[in-house]
Amino acid sequence: MPQDSQRYSAANLVRDFLDYFAARGHDVVPSAPLLPDDPTLLFTAAGMVPFKGYFSDPASAPYARAASVQKCLRAGGKQSDLENVGRTLRHHTFFEMLGNFSFGDYFKKEAIEWGWDLSVEIWKMDPARMWVSVFEEDDEAFELWEKHIGFPRDRIVRMGRADNFWGPVGDTGICGPSSEMYYDSGRPGKEGGPAVESGDRYIEYWNLVFPQFFYTAGGKYDLLPRPGIDTGLGLERLAVILQGVEDNFHTDEFLPIRTAVAKSVGDGAREEAAQLAINAAADHVRALTFALAEGIVPSNEGRGYVLRRLLRRALTKLQPFGVREPFLADAVDAVVRTMSPRYPELTARAALVKEMVTAEEERFISTLEQGMGRLERVLDEARGSRSRVVPGAEVFMLYDTFGFPPELTEEFALDAGLGIDRDGFQSSMQAQKERSGGAIGVAGTTNGEKFITIGDFKRSEFVGYDALSCDASAAGLRRARGATTDDQYIEFTTDRTVFYPEGGGQVGDAGRARFGDTELNVVDTFRVGDRIAHRASWTSAGDPEEIFQAHPGGRLDVDRERRLATARNHTATHLLHAALRSVLGDHVAQAGSLVAPDRFRFDFHHFQAMKPEEVAEVEHIVTEAIMADMSVTAQSMPYKEAIATGAMALFGEKYGDTVRVVSVEDFSRELCGGTHLAHTGEIGPFFIRQEGAVGAGIRRVEALTGAGAFRFAKALVAERNSIAALLKVAPEDIDKRVRTLLDDVDAMQKQLRRDESRQARDSAGDALSAAITIGDVTFVAAKVEAGDVPSLRRYGDALREKLQTGVAVISQSQADKPVCLIVVSDRAVSEKSISAADITREISKALSFRGGGKKHMAQIGLGNIEDFDRVADFVKETLKSLT
Ligand code: ATP
Ligand code: MG
Repeated sequence: MPQDSQRYSAANLVRDFLDYFAARGHDVVPSAPLLPDDPTLLFTAAGMVPFKGYFSDPASAPYARAASVQKCLRAGGKQSDLENVGRTLRHHTFFEMLGNFSFGDYFKKEAIEWGWDLSVEIWKMDPARMWVSVFEEDDEAFELWEKHIGFPRDRIVRMGRADNFWGPVGDTGICGPSSEMYYDSGRPGKEGGPAVESGDRYIEYWNLVFPQFFYTAGGKYDLLPRPGIDTGLGLERLAVILQGVEDNFHTDEFLPIRTAVAKSVGDGAREEAAQLAINAAADHVRALTFALAEGIVPSNEGRGYVLRRLLRRALTKLQPFGVREPFLADAVDAVVRTMSPRYPELTARAALVKEMVTAEEERFISTLEQGMGRLERVLDEARGSRSRVVPGAEVFMLYDTFGFPPELTEEFALDAGLGIDRDGFQSSMQAQKERSGGAIGVAGTTNGEKFITIGDFKRSEFVGYDALSCDASAAGLRRARGATTDDQYIEFTTDRTVFYPEGGGQVGDAGRARFGDTELNVVDTFRVGDRIAHRASWTSAGDPEEIFQAHPGGRLDVDRERRLATARNHTATHLLHAALRSVLGDHVAQAGSLVAPDRFRFDFHHFQAMKPEEVAEVEHIVTEAIMADMSVTAQSMPYKEAIATGAMALFGEKYGDTVRVVSVEDFSRELCGGTHLAHTGEIGPFFIRQEGAVGAGIRRVEALTGAGAFRFAKALVAERNSIAALLKVAPEDIDKRVRTLLDDVDAMQKQLRRDESRQARDSAGDALSAAITIGDVTFVAAKVEAGDVPSLRRYGDALREKLQTGVAVISQSQADKPVCLIVVSDRAVSEKSISAADITREISKALSFRGGGKKHMAQIGLGNIEDFDRVADFVKETLKSLT
């Protein structure tokens, strides 16, 4: 085993990998950002993410073969490894995945051959320490390993669906078996390969996935006409294997980061427990550095919250070992120094990243010490309580006052053998929201620099209720960051604007602006104090300040379609509010809303789930109001007057002296600054898509209007038709057909049980023929075929009836953890006072298996079927001593 870490430096391994696949016709594709294109994903968590669509539609791929080194983050959402970091020696939150991909081009043979060749020929891994797994039904992969590669059969393990089958990601879609490559690290652990020990001993380093099926709504695995290949090779794990170092945290590109963190721990770092904490903290800093350098910022929700959590987790992990001073900035330096040769962009962002982590760190540290004291008291109290659960209100207090994320409190609690009351936490949180006005924020905008002054205007006038275009003079300007730092934005304010700034739940307008010759794409609008700021992407090479100084006068045009779609949803929100009140009662008050062009949601106070009839009635009332094509008008008036006329105001919201009242004839009247339609008829179709809870006493309705509602309805009809086609009935008969099918299944199950009982009786006869007699008690021991415990019990019952005075021990012959039954016939119980429960108790004591039951029948859990003979012998001996 060569252990030359220079030869096998991470940088060299990356180069080997890309060279190898480039030489085999792969396009080398740069890493996609951690921030994925796909809003349903929190972060990019695998190499295939940027290529996802190409597997189902190879024709759309710009290349048939690709290879990449993908930055991955598994720190939140479904694929989180956060809890694993610091517990295992092989999991990171941020790591790099090397991958080779085929989009309908080569398949298993090449993927396996190359994976093997690269590992043993180029990287000289010791073949004797390698193991591979294949999906249990994938004979093709098994054969390729055994015949084509010549891999020893006893180190090819077949594994089940949970380990070796990928996808589909949703209910339907691309999926397929996989084959994993393992390396025996020689660390302590059980012998026998990855199926036995799936810990740090047999390291899974490369996963070859074979996307070859499409899983259909009908539950079928259709073969793809052009299957593909998706592989993922963890760079850190590869480095451990080849560099021969202790673990992931001691590889050439990780150790310097770890050392920097350890230094700030000082003497405490020598404690053994500190080692794992240092691993975790170093990991988190590395993840943070990469994410922040992409321009994702810490915040209180979504991705930003994951970052905040990583940061706080890094700090609290080290807290017990005596870190008091801010240290993250130094650790960030170490990350930048170590990783920037391969990620040069880190250098340019280093200063900014350090500023952000230090600001967060200082804020957190100042409360942490008091918080830790409080936390310890809280844990102490919970330890003394009967439930051993930290009350939700305490979890919330730690969060609200000390900034402890609830997950963090939970981790501390778990370490102390306690739990936390999550529901209680949620309701405390909701109560807090209600106290503070209940508005549910629309996605925030990231902060930029200070505005520089272009023109001297203190405030912006909004003139966009009636007009969609206007001339305006620029007031201020700044550069801003997008969700990633690669997106360049500017934000500019004007003396007047037709762009509606985000507010009252309604999202900000988008559209176009022109200053001089520069055309700007405005993507969002929001208030900054008394001014209204427009956020626009900046793609031109010029300096925005020069352009605005030269052409302070410009033209603003709101995107009409988008505004109209938003207005449909806003006007519909008012109709919905009124309809909810008339159906559910006047206690229904708005608790928050989101009005966007493509959907809206409305949160309101109500104490139980809406019944389906109530939802239908609300939909009906809103639809009537739409069809009546009522006119929508807005009027400014003094606040007191507005309230006197019965307009609804948001509880807790601050209003000025003069307010705007939006009325839909006599149907609805609300204080509202939003943009609306002129007539309700323009809303078009309206559907409630969902009704659910968001907190204690707060419900949420999500609804669609216009084209969105139309598409929704079309999709429902299409789905209904395809279900009908599957069931081979007319759509209106689906109900009836499903009922009959369920009845059939029921009847079949009953029949099956009857058959099994009969079979059990028949084979019980066979078992009896092997009976022996002890004293005057018949004794039977048999391993029988029983798929589950109920059928084993049926077998036991059958046997019990046939035994005159007898005892039987039976067990499932083919289960993973078989169950064993002891049955005692009626006469053996009454005349011989033999009890299955008593025998089982003796067995538990003597052989330490768990079990229990009644006189006639008791059940014991075995470790494996080999244990059966010990139990049977024990019972036999017991009977001998009784008779
Ligand atoms: P594990 O079971 O060890 O968590 P996985 O099944 O989640 O691994 P895949 O999703 O198949 O792994 O990812 C492909 C490869 O990426 C793995 O074989 C491994 O080398 C690497 N990898 C996965 N998760 C991590 C992680 N958290 N840290 C470092 N490397 C990882
Ligand atoms: Mg995993």
